[in-house]
Formats: sequence, structure tokens, C-alpha cells
Amino acid sequence: MSTAAISSPSPDAADAPLPHILVAEDSLTSVAVISRDLRQYYTLLHARDGEEAWQMLLGDPRIELVITDVQMPNLSGQQLLKLIRLAPETRISSLPVIVMTTAEDSAEKHLAFLNGANDFLNKPVDSLELRARVDVHHRLARIIRELEDSKKALAELATTDSLTKLKNRRMFYTQAEQNLGACRRYGKDMSLLLLDIDHFKKVNDTFGHHAGDEVLVKVARLLAQMVRGVDTVARFGGEEFAVLMPETNRLGAAVLGERIRAAIEREQINVDGRHIPVTVSIGISTLAAEDVESIDQMLNIADQRLYLAKNSGRNRICVSDDGKSHFA
Ligand code: GH3
Ligand code: MG
Ligand code: MG
Ligand code: MG
Repeated sequence: MSTAAISSPSPDAADAPLPHILVAEDSLTSVAVISRDLRQYYTLLHARDGEEAWQMLLGDPRIELVITDVQMPNLSGQQLLKLIRLAPETRISSLPVIVMTTAEDSAEKHLAFLNGANDFLNKPVDSLELRARVDVHHRLARIIRELEDSKKALAELATTDSLTKLKNRRMFYTQAEQNLGACRRYGKDMSLLLLDIDHFKKVNDTFGHHAGDEVLVKVARLLAQMVRGVDTVARFGGEEFAVLMPETNRLGAAVLGERIRAAIEREQINVDGRHIPVTVSIGISTLAAEDVESIDQMLNIADQRLYLAKNSGRNRICVSDDGKSHFA
């Protein structure tokens, strides 16, 4: 396999490495021409046939663009193009591909277009056209990648709490609505748990705001560890967290609520060498037990019970309106 670069970044290039381009071409003359025209600006990798090109693509994430011949041994340019477009990794499937054809070969061109080619070059390749097409597709692909990345980052920002990395209130609502719909459709129960750290103001006052933040992170981590994959944990507000438990009845929710309460009370939370005792109060509502219509109603009921848990001494759970913490 001729995986070696046929040109390397010019020594005086800025610190950024030259972008990598894969050239799949069995004619060495043609490769030499492309190399002469592009090597100042790109690092060119050469594959002698489609199969070799495919292996190089799989193994080298630096490749940002493909120039391919059509007629090649082992795997043709058309087959390579199809493999690229069908690749499960978007890194590969979204690569810009420029196909080289002869001027007469309009059928191959047409087929390559249907197979997902981004652009075409007529052989023998014109220097200026080669450079212009490669530049524009390379730049476009980079811009698209940057847009995709920032889209992902924005979506993450919009749905995640930055301190604890849990889902935020908004995302909790979205998932809760979806789960409510599904549980209703399939006649399943669902429970919702609201948790509030006891006397958290005192934690901040005694140990400082930074220590308070650490406590929030530790409680969040513990919660995330204790729930099932189908449950949703969110930071609901300052020192308030919510857990949505699909397909869970009141008894199941009470069992988990009590386990969470006990685990947090037991947890050794130390910040800057000082032990911070932390307890929580929990209110729980359950779809079937309350006969509710909406997530807002479930939240209201859980909130009232959280208030009951606070008023009856904190560090406890409450699953019914008479303030019961046992499994009704
Ligand atoms: P209770 O047991 O009744 O819940 O008492 P509490 O002190 O926990 O409740 P209160 O609502 O009076 O105080 C909540 C405190 O949480 C006040 C606020 O400064 C603090 N807080 C909210 N968000 C953050 C945060 O992101 N970091 C830190 N360190 N503190 C926060
Ligand atoms: Mg050929
Ligand atoms: Mg609170
Ligand atoms: Mg509190």
C-alpha cells in the first residue's frame, strides 16, 4: 500500500499542517500532474486503486477531500464513491469527492453525479481548474463542519446545565412530555421526583459559594449514578433536582427516593479538606395514583409533597398528601 505522502507540507508553511487530500488514481502520470499543482497547498496521499483508497479513508481521519479516477483496478471510482456515501461515519460519508473523467465520458459523469460526486474534472486536468475546484470544495467542507460543530455545541448549551452537566429544566420538560405520552399510550405508570437540598443557604454561608457548587456537582453525580438508563435526571433550579421515572409506580418511586435520600445522607462530601454534611428532602408524584393530566400537575403535586417533607423535619421523602414517607 503506498500510504506515504507524495508531498509534504512546505517547510515555510504556518504552524497549521497542510490539509490532507486523497488521490485515487492508477495512472502515475496523472498523479504526478496533480501532485505538481497541489503539493504546495495540500498534503497529497496516493492510492493506486479504489480498494486501497477505501482502506486509507477508513484509517486516516486527516483526509478532508478525495479526488478519484473512474477506471481503476479492484474497486472502481464509482464503487468507491458509493462506499463513501454509504459509510456509517459522517466523517467519511460527508467528504467532498471530485471525480476525474474524460471529456467524452458523459455517461460516467452522470452516474458519478447520481452516486454523490460533488464535482468533476476533465482529464487531462487543467492546473487552474484543479486548484480552484479543490480549494472551493475543501473550504466549503470545512465551513460545513464548523457549522455542524457549533450547532451541536449550541444544542448542548440549550439542554444542559453547565455546572452539573445534567439536563436542564427545559430539556426535562421536553423528555417528560414525551414519556408522559408514551406511558399513556401503552397504559404504563410513571413517577416524578423532586429533590431539594436541605438548608443549602447554610452550606454556602458556612463553607463558601465554591463549596456549595461542589456539593451540587456531587449530588448530581450521585443521582445520575443511581437512576436507570431510561430515567431522566435534571437540575431543576438552584439546589433543586428532578428525576423522571417512566414505567415506575408509586412503590417503585418511593423505594428509589428513599435510596437516594439515604445515599446522600451517607455520602462523605469533603471540599478543601472539610466535611460538609448534606441531606435532602424529596417529594414524589405518580401518574396512576394521582390521575393527573399534565407534567405541570405532576410537578405541582411533587412540589407540595416536597414542601410537606420540609415542614415535617427535612431529610425525608413524601409520597402522598398526608405527608407519608412510607410506601403507601
Ligand atoms: P431549605 O431546606 O428550606 O430548602 O433551605 P435552603 O437554604 O436550602 O433553601 P433556600 O431556597 O432558602 O436557599 C437556597 C440557596 O441555594 C440560596 C442560593 O444562594 C443557593 N444557590 C442556588 N443556586 C446555587 C448555585 O448554583 N451555587 C451555589 N453555591 N448556591 C446556589
Ligand atoms: Mg484509471
Ligand atoms: Mg430550593
Ligand atoms: Mg433547599
